[in-house]
Parts: sequence; structure tokens; C-alpha cells
Amino acid sequence: MTETVTRFAPSPTGHLHLGHAHSALFGWRAARMAGGRFLLRIEDIDAGRCRPVFESDLMDDLAWLGLDWDGPVRRQSDHFDDYRAALARLQALGLVYPCFCTRKEIAAEAARAGQAPHGPDGLLYPGTCRHLPESLRAERLAAGGPYALRLDVAAAKALAGPLRWHDRAQGWQEAAPEILGDVVLARKDTPTSYHLSVTVDDDLQGITLVTRGQDLFFATHLHRLLQALLGLAVPDYHHHGLLVNERGERLAKRDGARSLRTLREAGHSPAEVRAMAGFPD
Ligand code: GLU
Repeated sequence: MTETVTRFAPSPTGHLHLGHAHSALFGWRAARMAGGRFLLRIEDIDAGRCRPVFESDLMDDLAWLGLDWDGPVRRQSDHFDDYRAALARLQALGLVYPCFCTRKEIAAEAARAGQAPHGPDGLLYPGTCRHLPESLRAERLAAGGPYALRLDVAAAKALAGPLRWHDRAQGWQEAAPEILGDVVLARKDTPTSYHLSVTVDDDLQGITLVTRGQDLFFATHLHRLLQALLGLAVPDYHHHGLLVNERGERLAKRDGARSLRTLREAGHSPAEVRAMAGFPD
């Protein structure tokens, strides 16, 4: 039997809150109960939003909570070459195109088309730049402005053929990556995106069971497609429910009152905070 390897992959853009604690404990327990390994990965590709202090603070918070992790911590900003190589492979397959649209233009284009198709992550990209003539593309690239690199999801799906993935709570799923539209894989100044780096890293780190919140369930459809295109291993998945506050809203980083730091400073013990995060001892 293969060893169970899970991970917790926070972005150091703020302090950890109870929702993160739930997710970390969920992954940690899945690994430890199976006698497997639990890894920590720092998802810090967004240099504008990530801060080193949040990285050291989150490690401190996890240790205080009673969590330990195996092996070295992988920091995504140290591995841009891995993501560049994956992106180049997708480009060589002819599945990536530059998109010059601003957010405003995307919204206006969708409205003009008389519809505003929404995916689980908001407005779906209407495909404006997908079939730009090559000469216009070259001209706009040469002009030096910002652009995103998008996946032509229909072409990618046609190339990969039908795919499935498995969620431990929700069973087998037919991969439907088109529900996210032509997602951004990289930008002019950043050679990767959440979707690309998380998929590459889960393979590189030998993750066998991806545990994460239900908010990322739809992203897994796309990750399964990227795995097929890049020849990566396919882990098992377990998307867990999200913790909500008293008003029934999903916990967010801005909900500072519930940060682990605040709870700790208010005198709560690790066991109490584990219980608040849904894991009573
Ligand atoms: N870095 C992501 C987040 O903080 C989690 C990624 C994942 O677990 O796939 O939401």
C-alpha cells in the first residue's frame, strides 16, 4: 500500500484563523491516522500580498496548536523554474494564449454579449483574446503592456479526453474543467498562478491525498486536466466543509477577531482552539 502523504498549503498574506486551523488539523490527522507524512508548503507566488512575517507567524501558530510537519517546508517562490517548465510544456502543446483584457473590459464584453456567465469563481472569461490574429498578438506583445497567459480549456479538454477524479466524501467526479473557463496560468511578470503551481507541487512533493476546503472543489476539475496534460500523478482528494462565523459567513482573513494569535493572546489553550476549529481532543 502506498504511504499517505497530505499537506497544508497556506498563503502568508495574513494571520491564520480558525478556518485554516480546521484545514491544517484535517490534513494532519488524515496523515497521522494513516501512519503517513504531513507536509507544509508556503504558497507565496503573489509577492505583492505575501509577507515573510506572516510565514514565520504561521509556523509558530501551527506549532503552538500542536501540529508538526515532515521534511523541509517548500516555499513556492523558490521554485519558479519548475512552474516555468510546466508552462512551457503547455505552450508547446499550443494550449496557452496571451490575453490583454483588463477586468473592466472582461465585464463589459460579457455584458455586451447579453449575458454574464458566472463560474464558481465569478465572471467567466468570454474568450475575447482566444482567436486574436497572430499579427495583432505580436503587435500587442511588442507594445510591452501587461498580459495574462490563459489556458484554452476547450482545446485542452479535447486533447486530454474524458477524465475522472475521486473525492473521499463525494465519490467519483467526471472532470468538467470548462466550468472555470479559460483560466489564467501565468502573467507577464509572474510565471505561474495558483492553479499551475499547486498542481505541479502536489506531484513533485508526492502528495497522495489532497485535503482542502470545499471552496476549492471546482478547482480540482481543472487540476485534473493539468495533471493529464503534464503527465503528473493523480492524488486522491478530500474536500472538507468550511467553518462559518456566528452570522453563517465563511471565515476570512479579515475576520481578525478569530485569528489564532488573538485567541492565544486572550488566554485560550491549544486544546480549546483545536476544539473551536472542530477537532476536540
Ligand atoms: N493556498 C491555498 C489557500 O490558502 C490553498 C491551496 C490548496 O490547498 O490547494 O487557500
